Amino acid sequence: MGRSLLIGRIAGIRILIHWTFLLLLGFIVFSEMRKGSDTVAIVATIGFVLALFACVVLHELGHSLTARRFGIETKKITLLPIGGVASLERIPEDPKQELWVALAGPAVNVVIALLLYPFVASFSDESLSGEGVGNVATTQGFFSALFRVNVALVLFNAIPAFPMDGGRVLRALLALRLGRIRATSIAAGLGQLIAVGFVFFGLFNNPFLILIGIFVYFGAQTENVVVQHLELLKDYTVRNAMMTNFVTLAPTDTVKDAADKLLSGSDQDLIVVDNDQAIGVMTRPLIMDSLRQNRLDTSVVDVMERDFDTVQIGDRLTEVYSNAQRKPNAFYPVLENHRLRGVIDMNNINEFVTIRAALRY
Ligand SMILES: [Zn+2]
Repeated sequence: MGRSLLIGRIAGIRILIHWTFLLLLGFIVFSEMRKGSDTVAIVATIGFVLALFACVVLHELGHSLTARRFGIETKKITLLPIGGVASLERIPEDPKQELWVALAGPAVNVVIALLLYPFVASFSDESLSGEGVGNVATTQGFFSALFRVNVALVLFNAIPAFPMDGGRVLRALLALRLGRIRATSIAAGLGQLIAVGFVFFGLFNNPFLILIGIFVYFGAQTENVVVQHLELLKDYTVRNAMMTNFVTLAPTDTVKDAADKLLSGSDQDLIVVDNDQAIGVMTRPLIMDSLRQNRLDTSVVDVMERDFDTVQIGDRLTEVYSNAQRKPNAFYPVLENHRLRGVIDMNNINEFVTIRAALRY
């Protein structure tokens, strides 16, 4: 599901196309050919889809570049058949910042629509009316369709379905009065309700709405959970949640020793320790690979992963949680003055959250 193609960089942000987007282009060519359209019409239709997605990229850049003004970078913008996604490093916690970032995307489409308007208004009435996208093989049809989809993007994003832009605006406005936690849970609840509406409406009208409904439903759920968790974690550091019971390996231990230790406990990643220092990690896949290559008697020091992330014992849990969120199976040795003191992973943090939540009630 995760395959994306890098098509370039704008303002240092990677622009990627998800493989399913190419599927969409293929589908368009196929359905145009079935309709018996000529080459000009097919090329025009593809050109139109690309122009539409250029507008989507500009919309996402609106979010990204506004976020940059608040010190938040964007790692990438991904184009999916259902639209674009800007992966911000984090979502601004200040409601006013979130409000600006959310508004900046649709604002770009407002500007595009305004720029196209004088041009489109000069066309005859027939080219502006008409069903669907119309005939994009003519200049008039192309630009009036582009005008309409930009207007549609603005209207669609005005729907307060969190985590769509309108929902983010709603959350930000609510957060100004109610605080972020309450605001998120209200916005997420409403977002999920609207998402169910999308799916029902989509069943009878437009299959794309079903996809968007599913995307919104789970997006709202995930973000709600994350915000609630961050709230529970905010006063704690790694020291409070790390595991102090964990399995280590000595550099002279063999792959066979590592496999034995993997079997005898529930740890998935074993840290190689020399003189209280973590010098490498033997992950489960690495151990399995080494076994397959028949390297039973090889020392772990020769196969271990030397390049691994660590955290400091005083690091804030919210920070570790946010980083681990983006890296499934993340696992961090915990250091204090360069010495190994424990390990922490997502299961661990989730356990801590569950305990804190249970203690609160
Ligand atoms: Zn947006």
